[in-house]
Amino acid sequence: MSTSLFDTVIVGAGGAGLTAAIYTARANLSTLVLEKLMPGGQIASTEGVENYPGFPEGIMGADIAQRMEAQAVKYGVQINYEDVKNVLPREKFFLIETSENRYQAKAVILAMGASFRMLGVPGEKEFIGRGVSYCATCDGAFFKGKNVMVVGGGDSALQEGIFLTKFASQVSIVHRRDQLRGSSILQERAKKNPKIRFIWDTVIDKIQGNSKVESVLLRNVKTQETRTMPADGVFVFIGHAPNSGIVKGLVEMDEEGYVISGGGYRTSVPGIFAAGEIRKGSVHQLVAAAGEGCGAALALQAYLENQE
Ligand code: NAP
Repeated sequence: MSTSLFDTVIVGAGGAGLTAAIYTARANLSTLVLEKLMPGGQIASTEGVENYPGFPEGIMGADIAQRMEAQAVKYGVQINYEDVKNVLPREKFFLIETSENRYQAKAVILAMGASFRMLGVPGEKEFIGRGVSYCATCDGAFFKGKNVMVVGGGDSALQEGIFLTKFASQVSIVHRRDQLRGSSILQERAKKNPKIRFIWDTVIDKIQGNSKVESVLLRNVKTQETRTMPADGVFVFIGHAPNSGIVKGLVEMDEEGYVISGGGYRTSVPGIFAAGEIRKGSVHQLVAAAGEGCGAALALQAYLENQE
């Protein structure tokens, strides 16, 4: 096992992590980004990004992810695709253990982001990949001419629901209230779309089928009435939970597991910074993640200068 030393190790190659890496590398700090899946984080599996400044026509999520990665690599960032298991403070450095290697860093940026939440109802886990999905960009094309349910009332449910109308013949947005949480521009677009209908005040209690999803058991939360409706697919967009498990007990977090950071993106442990959706108070937008990545990188530079 190698134990290379870097000025900084950044955990997570989403918008926050890659932006932080561009800044630290351009400040001549040796920078390693560790990512378990793919560059871009949540944005990589988003169809289009329409609100990132500088792209008036919008840009594909995967495109901007690749561009951010290329920009980081151009400035000398090393990106290793490894699953981080532990971040351990040592006397002078932090030890970062992955499934394959151990690395040392003078300072660390936590940018692990958040992952989709699951419904937690019977049938959900069993039918993942057989009708249940959390990524319309990845799986939408399998539902050509089909009838799909989308769960949630936020921007993700609306944006992905609209995207799914490219393939599906009908998209039913099942929301537990009678008012949407998503932005008005997406609400308007979804309401105007002839393939979209809303099922209000309703939750899915069970996902049913034989070898693949065939129907869902719906329950109206006001009347408690239940009914079974045919469905070929169920796309779940009910928010996110922070990917902070590896630093549980190390840095201060709120009850949901979001990392608490003070000014300058500092966590409760000197030398560990947090940026993007892992951080309590982050506004869950790509542009904010990028801004926080920049802020954390600048704070880290100042921290290292003070250590010398
Ligand atoms: P979100 O805004 O937290 O919305 C989650 C939705 O799921 C809410 O409508 C919520 O209902 C519902 N929900 C939560 N738990 C549920 C459960 N157990 N069963 C049924 N429904 C449940 O999450 P999001 O839509 O993923 O968005 C996350 C953040 O990313 C937001 O800040 C959003 O603005 C941002 N985002 C922005 C864009 C964009 O700008 N185009 C696109 C995607 C996401 P309630 O409303 O009743 O709480």
